[in-house]
Amino acid sequence: MKSQNNYLKNIWFPFTYADDVRKYPPITISKGEGVYLYDTAGKKYLDAISSWWVNNLGHSNPEIVAAIKAQADKLEHVIMAGFISDSTIMLTQKLKKLLPLELTRIFYSDDGSTAVEAAMKIAMQYWMYRKEKRCEFIALGGAYHGDTLGAMSVGGIPQYHTLFHDCHKKQNFTHGPYCYGCPEKKDKETCSAECMNSLEQILIKRGNRIAACIFEPMVQGAAGMRIYPAKVLTRIFKLCREYGVLTIADEVMTGFGRTGKMFACEYGDVIPDIMCLAKGLTGGYLPLSATVVRETIYQEFSGNAKNGRIFHHGHSFTGNPLAAAAACAVLDILERENIPDSLKDKTTHFQKGLESFSTMENVGEVRSIGMIGALELVADKKTGKRLPAEKRIPFKIAQNAISKGLLVRPLGDVLYFIPPYVIKNEEIDEMFAIAKKAILEEVAS
Ligand SMILES: *Cc1c(COP(=O)(O)O)cnc(C)c1O
Repeated sequence: MKSQNNYLKNIWFPFTYADDVRKYPPITISKGEGVYLYDTAGKKYLDAISSWWVNNLGHSNPEIVAAIKAQADKLEHVIMAGFISDSTIMLTQKLKKLLPLELTRIFYSDDGSTAVEAAMKIAMQYWMYRKEKRCEFIALGGAYHGDTLGAMSVGGIPQYHTLFHDCHKKQNFTHGPYCYGCPEKKDKETCSAECMNSLEQILIKRGNRIAACIFEPMVQGAAGMRIYPAKVLTRIFKLCREYGVLTIADEVMTGFGRTGKMFACEYGDVIPDIMCLAKGLTGGYLPLSATVVRETIYQEFSGNAKNGRIFHHGHSFTGNPLAAAAACAVLDILERENIPDSLKDKTTHFQKGLESFSTMENVGEVRSIGMIGALELVADKKTGKRLPAEKRIPFKIAQNAISKGLLVRPLGDVLYFIPPYVIKNEEIDEMFAIAKKAILEEVAS
């Protein structure tokens, strides 16, 4: 085994302590099928987090694999200026059918972070063309929009972002819509989205310098799957409209049915000015993202050599045909299988299973939306007292679960489940049974 691990001297893992890489050497996966991954020794793991929230339709899905193979036989890539691949055209037509009518223009990039970068640049430049200098953004406390510098300026997670806010740029932040830790001690059923009073304060003070407000609709993923009520979403839109600020909905995680609607913005019955899509777009098979905008925004960029209006932005792999072919297959499957509507029964089973954790001593809150479920782990259920950080109990629960064949990865004190949609009810039961056992073993020890 040792010689196999030699590569560890030469690799840098994302979001992982170097010490943990030594103590818990990464598991080498050589095969995937449906919700399962198989390591080189043949041991299988149920992928409860869709390999970082991307794999919505299962591993090695034959239809997506075939689409990529067929495309690879024809064309791997072509420059997307003056040229375009037929598979990129096909994807554009399929996406247009799925998107709200108002969102007409699709700009392709590589991943969630770059979709956000494009959205921010488009927003700033839009105002410049309208003869307004608006260089600032508003983001929500606890926000996560990716790891590139621009996306981090609107990131609201202290461990990830504080250094870069200090060295580079920090935008304006509202209170986080974090219901479990609501500072006003409001009930999410009866509150009036008071957390967004802070948004109004920023808009009053600096509204005319703000290009856009960016937010994750309904669920703040990286903050710990913090699910907030639709009235918060509608209040964000109402305030932004009132003060004439653009809205950027970052649907990178929530898009394509994850929350039980095709797009999470549907919960608030709102259509943003700009929407960012990635992760599930290719079912997690290849990197691809889209920044989708209203025609009125695109019109400001409608230029020529005389007026100089142009979006000077693009990536080497913009509109990549292989990724587009994978995305076409994904959108075909979503349409044919009537996803997310057809997931209703499975979602009920999933949410009911999750609810059974609520009687556990160290589970402070159980929350779910669509096929996203999360457990807020605490030391004391009554007072909400936090777990002692130095004991790393959530991390140990995850390690325990992995040893039992369940791939989970906590976010702080939150243990969450975002399984592929293709998971069967028995597999949901298996997932929760292992998680429960792991929690009980680790909190008792
Ligand atoms: C994952 C994520 C991103 C970043 O996407 P990458 O593909 O990792 O760059 C941006 N926004 C949200 C809401 C995400 O969940």
